[in-house]
Amino acid sequence: MKQFDVVVVGGGHAGTEAAAAAARRGACVALISQAKSQIGTMSCNPSIGGLGKGHLVREVDAFDGLMARAADDSAIHHRMLNRSKGLAVQGPRIQADRTRYRNSIARQLSTYQNLTIVEGEVVDLVVSGDRVIGAILAEGDTVRSGAVVLATGTFLGGKIFRGEERLDGGRVGESAAHRLAARLRDLALPMHRLKTGTPPRLDGRTIDWGRLAPQPSDDDIWWMSTMPAAERLPQLACAITRTTPRSHDIVRRGLASSPLFGGAIEGQGPRYCPSIEDKIHRFGDRDGHQIFLEPEGLDDHLVYPNGISTSLDARVQQEMVTSVPGLERARITTMGYAVEYDHLDPRSLDHRLALPQLKGLFCAGQINGTTGYEEAAAQGLIAGLNAAAHACGLPHVTIDRAAGYIGVMIDDLVLQGVTEPYRMLTARAEFRLSLRADNAETRLSTIAMEANCLSGQRLFHVERRRELRDRARSGDTNIPVKDIDILREVEEDARYAPYVARQEEEVARIRRDEKIVLPPATSLSDVPGLSTEMIDRLRSSAPSTLGEASRIRGITPAALAALWLHARKAS
Ligand SMILES: Cc1cc2nc3c(=O)[nH]c(=O)nc-3n(C[C@H](O)[C@H](O)[C@H](O)COP(=O)(O)OP(=O)(O)OC[C@H]3O[C@@H](n4cnc5c(N)ncnc54)[C@H](O)[C@@H]3O)c2cc1C
Repeated sequence: MKQFDVVVVGGGHAGTEAAAAAARRGACVALISQAKSQIGTMSCNPSIGGLGKGHLVREVDAFDGLMARAADDSAIHHRMLNRSKGLAVQGPRIQADRTRYRNSIARQLSTYQNLTIVEGEVVDLVVSGDRVIGAILAEGDTVRSGAVVLATGTFLGGKIFRGEERLDGGRVGESAAHRLAARLRDLALPMHRLKTGTPPRLDGRTIDWGRLAPQPSDDDIWWMSTMPAAERLPQLACAITRTTPRSHDIVRRGLASSPLFGGAIEGQGPRYCPSIEDKIHRFGDRDGHQIFLEPEGLDDHLVYPNGISTSLDARVQQEMVTSVPGLERARITTMGYAVEYDHLDPRSLDHRLALPQLKGLFCAGQINGTTGYEEAAAQGLIAGLNAAAHACGLPHVTIDRAAGYIGVMIDDLVLQGVTEPYRMLTARAEFRLSLRADNAETRLSTIAMEANCLSGQRLFHVERRRELRDRARSGDTNIPVKDIDILREVEEDARYAPYVARQEEEVARIRRDEKIVLPPATSLSDVPGLSTEMIDRLRSSAPSTLGEASRIRGITPAALAALWLHARKAS
């Protein structure tokens, strides 16, 4: 039997960040994943960042995480979204070479001496009383640990749909994790179903690029990480095309065999990333939907047609694709599909991404009802830091809504829960003027230093840039070219200063309310003036402070006043 401080189950975006973050805090970590060769795989589009998501990548980087550097190591197309708007809502997004991205994650993980990668399927948890103390592999081996992080993505009870075809799998060609899914249900955890989907992949040599509007990579050089790769890879252009009324007719005719519309899929899909059949059903009056043709790598010909995710029958997919201008001769290399999987109601987690019901168990990524690599990585970071804290007796790490998008996402998840896959959006952050993608290092490096999760090299880098920032604030514009982003950050701080000052009062109120501790869920019925409806709503999210209660949907000002009065009397 092997013994570790932290076991992480799943080598996707959440699992790799969780394992690396726990290791950076000094924990001895085992990262267990079904296939070693698939660690760091991008299940869907080979792109990192975007609106709101780019903020998350930069925030993970402020904690010395993996994602931003892997993005820089593999970027073959750069696009700063919302460039014409203020820095607060700009979204850095890169198109990655899929293989180079995965290789970069594997290379970064290999530099951690205290991180062991184990290939295998976890089928059970070792539970002792109300504590999780390890995991059991399919072959029967037990791995003991002080904490376990579940980062199983779309694999728990994963079922793949394409037209009338049904396959078992968490991703095409990779088996689902059925035994672990059954075990989590046996443990009476609140598990539900969600779904997501992916488009067909195209052979780029069969696309008529000459007919399409090209979209070149940005001219100016920018990076995802503040400690970037030495050099940029060669940059490739993307292209844009559109579906046509004929494509829509083909899709409508194909709906008869659609698992989505025929009721075979029960889980809700992502509102902000709908399938093409969903778009045509919901926005039937549109004469076309944009498709971004995104190359998947420097050394292969695959192209990802962003915008036509689908689970329609293979024949319908082929017909639909060839009805699009520029794709008349396009050959599909892999058909699109949908996957439905189990997820945990994130309201059963606390802000450390721990399950209070089962001590030592943490969850991160798609298992918590989110969608997206960046959302997964950001949760992996927090779960990994806190799993290490739990196992090694270190202080826990949380980020509040005023400090980062990571804080906004986790607060939304654990207080509101999800009814569809949760995606980060700038609109979800109320303090977005101060939460810019470009100032993540400034906002979060103190928390990262306190968590003791920065390498010596990163620590030096952060301190050096802090001095440069101080110099820039006092009017010195003589900043090294590689740190020129600091000048822009300081200029932007000055521009937003009056608005940010106005927000500070609201931030102070939120932080004050976070200090008012509420009674445990079991004694809410003792609070005078709380209706049964309010008690039910509070119980399902289990807020521990007045601040958290105030952000639960449907909690009335009267209920908050009753809670405040009760907390004041109790103290
Ligand atoms: C078909 C498809 C389409 C998608 N479309 C989009 C999209 O359009 N937009 C978007 O933002 N996101 C999309 N996603 C979601 C995106 O891929 C995920 O959000 C992201 O990969 C989640 O990261 P994760 O680390 O939580 O899980 P994953 O990346 O899924 O990684 C999970 C890992 O855990 C391993 N694992 C699972 N169970 C076990 C076990 N019991 N034992 C050992 N190892 C285990 C798996 O082998 C895998 O390596 C899509 C995903 C799929 C599958």
